[in-house]
This record gives sequence, C-alpha cells and structure tokens, in this order.
Amino acid sequence: MSESTGSVDKICQETDCGEKMAELSPEQRALFKTFTYCPYCAEEMTLVCSRCHEHLTSADFKYCPWCGVEFGA
Ligand SMILES: [Zn+2]
Ligand SMILES: [Zn+2]
Repeated sequence: MSESTGSVDKICQETDCGEKMAELSPEQRALFKTFTYCPYCAEEMTLVCSRCHEHLTSADFKYCPWCGVEFGA
C-alpha cells in the first residue's frame, strides 16, 4: 500500500492532552506507550496508527489494518 513506515502510538483522545503530547520529544512520547492512563487527565490511553490515527486493538500489529502502513521496521 505504501512505502513509508509508521508506528503504533498511544495517545489520549482529549484534544488538550494531544496538544501537550505533540510538544514532547520522541523519547518522552515513546515512554507514553507504556502508560495505561493519561498523565494529564487520567483517561485511558488509546492505541492509534501514527499515520492515519485510526484506533488499533493491539500494539503487536505489524501493519495498520486501516491504511496498510508497516509498523516498526
Ligand atoms: Zn488526557
Ligand atoms: Zn494507519
């Protein structure tokens, strides 16, 4: 589907939290993947594709079921 690669991101669906996370370094964002709850609002974190931002049901997917991007590499 695409030559580019993506990653499984873990995000909070709250817009405010998403904006805070967007300002973090890649290292800090990587740490967020280990969180279960958002450190800003305590909502449960959601797994999404970094490319199409659709929800993922597993962090172990090798490809995005929505846009076909390959994760990791
Ligand atoms: Zn949040
Ligand atoms: Zn995707």
